[in-house]
Amino acid sequence: MNDKISSEPNCADPTDPASISVAEALERIEQRVLPVHACERLPIRECLGRVNNEAVKSPHSVPPLPNSAMDGFAVAIDSLQKDGITELDEVGAAYAGNPFAGSCASGQCVRIMTGALIPEGTDAVIMQEQAEIGDNGKIRVDADHRVGENIRQAGEDVKQNEMVIEAGVRLSPADLGVLASLGIGQLQVKRKPVVAFFSTGDELVPVGEPLEPGKIYDSNRYSLHGMLSRLSVDIIDLGVVRDDLDSMCEVLTRASAQADLIISTGGVSVGEADFIKPALTELGTTEFWKIAIKPGRPLTFGQIGASVFMGLPGNPVAVMVTFSQFVLPAIEVLSGARMRRPSLFRAQAMEAMRKIPGRTEFQRGIASLDENNRWQVVKTGKQGSGILTSMSRANCFIVLPDDNAGVEAGDEVSIQLFDWSH
Ligand code: AMP
Ligand code: MG
Repeated sequence: MNDKISSEPNCADPTDPASISVAEALERIEQRVLPVHACERLPIRECLGRVNNEAVKSPHSVPPLPNSAMDGFAVAIDSLQKDGITELDEVGAAYAGNPFAGSCASGQCVRIMTGALIPEGTDAVIMQEQAEIGDNGKIRVDADHRVGENIRQAGEDVKQNEMVIEAGVRLSPADLGVLASLGIGQLQVKRKPVVAFFSTGDELVPVGEPLEPGKIYDSNRYSLHGMLSRLSVDIIDLGVVRDDLDSMCEVLTRASAQADLIISTGGVSVGEADFIKPALTELGTTEFWKIAIKPGRPLTFGQIGASVFMGLPGNPVAVMVTFSQFVLPAIEVLSGARMRRPSLFRAQAMEAMRKIPGRTEFQRGIASLDENNRWQVVKTGKQGSGILTSMSRANCFIVLPDDNAGVEAGDEVSIQLFDWSH
């Protein structure tokens, strides 16, 4: 008889042949999640953070007509002397919103303010700091000027019919300004996805109730609430669900009637109290993914009716890691936006970091800029997947790829700065 117990692949193993990579999990999410279909037309102020549904082409040029970029004098360049000083008669003034009505002849100039239309007969604006008023009241300018000087040409920002905002773009404050500059007051955007979430676990007690032995407070629903609230989604908090199959099936059925995406935490392992898998098998289609990451290896992905289901692990840090790496991209696709991968920056590790090859690790770090404006990073102490303060103290993930076998102080590592709203 063997004197050792052979174990199945488990969370403590550095490698597990059945695990898929982060990149593969993202590819599957991109393939399987479908964007919401419905759209709504909204005033542009309400479109911030929403996903544009129809490409916007500009109905006219911006600026519509040439105007001055400076306060100064509008002149015709070929009416200036080739060398030396020219004296010009000031024949009027042009203000932003109040053009000069006449036309400017040779030997004349028009006083002009920033934003005012370029008067007829002129082709340059000489800024007031480069002109003098002579004793005779004439405007004196030198020969050192060229056609088009200090003029904002029509269409130099946007040309008529030019594509300005493509479909699938999440609208930024600058986009709202660009739309307004085109006179577009309303836009068709995708409706917000509805995201329902719940915690599972007989040990969980909601905040506000006393803690009996063996119980812990439910923290996952609060970190999830925080991460989801920053997004352009409607959220439904379904509370804590007990560890039994009936309760699990009941809440999943209710959630799938209301939500485009259902997120649960806990109950996705292979313990006797882990009911997410059996519930999903009963109600929908399911894929159980083991992803080669730490923390957060087990993740359930599936479909219940028209809803996407993502069953995250229970450990509080694993919840936040899997949310940031997989749920956020899934929400992007669901919202009708292009899936974005988180940006990585290079940083110098200020301390050694232990790591066994086999999985991508998301250690929690504090990144700062050194005196040369280069990123440097330290860990936030203990890195267990239950140590949630390692997240709250951090401002970045230190991403150590599958094949990394540990880091020495001074080595270069990749960091992902936290930005829960993308
Ligand atoms: P599970 O995957 O359900 O076995 O959970 C793994 C670990 O995470 C256990 O120690 C749980 O007590 C803990 N955990 C699960 N859900 C939560 C939660 N909502 N808040 C805090 N800890 C949790
Ligand atoms: Mg549990």
